[in-house]
Amino acid sequence: MIALNNHPSGRHFLQIPGPSPVPDRILRAISLPTIDHRGPEFARLGQKVVAGMQQIFQTRHPVVIYPASGTGAWEAALVNTLSPGDTVLMYETGHFASLWQKMATRLGLEPEFLALPGTDPATGLPNSWRHGVRADLIEERLRRDSAHRIQAVCVVHNETSTGVTSDIARVRKAIDAARHPALLLVDTISGLASADFRHDEWGVDVTISGSQKGLMLPPGISFNALSPKALARSKTARLPRAYWGWDEIVEMSAGGYWPYTPNTNLLYGLSEALDMILEQGLPAIFARHQRWAAGVRSAVRAWGLATQCADDELHSPVLTGVVTPPGIDADAVRRLIHDRFDLSLGTGLGKLKGRMFRIGHLGDCNDLTVMATLAGVEMGLRLSGVPLAGSGVAAAMEHFARPRAETLSATR
Ligand SMILES: *Cc1c(COP(=O)(O)O)cnc(C)c1O
Repeated sequence: MIALNNHPSGRHFLQIPGPSPVPDRILRAISLPTIDHRGPEFARLGQKVVAGMQQIFQTRHPVVIYPASGTGAWEAALVNTLSPGDTVLMYETGHFASLWQKMATRLGLEPEFLALPGTDPATGLPNSWRHGVRADLIEERLRRDSAHRIQAVCVVHNETSTGVTSDIARVRKAIDAARHPALLLVDTISGLASADFRHDEWGVDVTISGSQKGLMLPPGISFNALSPKALARSKTARLPRAYWGWDEIVEMSAGGYWPYTPNTNLLYGLSEALDMILEQGLPAIFARHQRWAAGVRSAVRAWGLATQCADDELHSPVLTGVVTPPGIDADAVRRLIHDRFDLSLGTGLGKLKGRMFRIGHLGDCNDLTVMATLAGVEMGLRLSGVPLAGSGVAAAMEHFARPRAETLSATR
């Protein structure tokens, strides 16, 4: 038999930016007996999770739930809105934006990949992978497209490979300022329910998300939130689609059902997650993610290391990318920390392999689990021979011991 649990005591520290730790309450909900997905009980569950997800996306329009990982929902967004050979304007923020661009090519689309040119002299890392989406570059490109060949603008809200969160409202404003009819497609697979996201207010046409990050579920379900314009476009879009087709799913899930067998037990988990999230309210959840992220950054600063994100106002509340000094293999540091302290950190992806590691601070964490994570990282950096300017743990303790605005308001 394969040993599925190699963690001798206590909890494993799963501090990667997804999957995030799953709360016991959600694990218990998932363990309920599977029911008939065409029976009367199921409709209540189906309708509840769709309505709850509308609140999470901050939308009044349909939300489609797929039994698939986030990648499936990426594909769904493209095949429901576009036609073979369509030009799409995508923006290179990092590894996930690059994977989405690759998928667009494989589906027979013609992606144009906008990026900030050049490399950062301090780190030798591509500029585009350290900064957010530049809405002015998108506006400039759309203005030059007077024939309106570009059918969609695709951006990643929270780039999980770098820890940079882009300003989506600004991208919408850029599209409108260029008076361009392109749809706005946004991946917030790792941002939703951790970082503020407003589908309707920000004028997003399709938002893509997944279960295993801010929603605190295991991997296996994913989402498309739609706009009326995206729904209208799906009537004429010609890329082949069957399983991913919005039409039948939107129609059936209004009544709480799906055209095929949905992921019943994960939907129990989603129902529980929605109760947990909506009881507390999104603002409190967003605020604590910001607090964790600021605490982690205070530690990184005290160590004298650089964050992968180079835009001060765009640091992700979900994860922090930590650049290791030249000559230090970030994956070797991660391995050591995993073996010694039972703590998993995110690897450097794509162009960042070996150059940095990622600390996830999302979902079912608290100030002390974040502190313990930082202690594991600090010990691991020292054991790896990384010269540190000071104690990040001490700096983070100062940060977390400060009064908390959201607790004060909750007790008032
Ligand atoms: C996790 C993630 C994905 C991929 O989702 P899967 O569930 O692994 O298919 C895509 N984009 C972003 C930004 C992500 O964080």
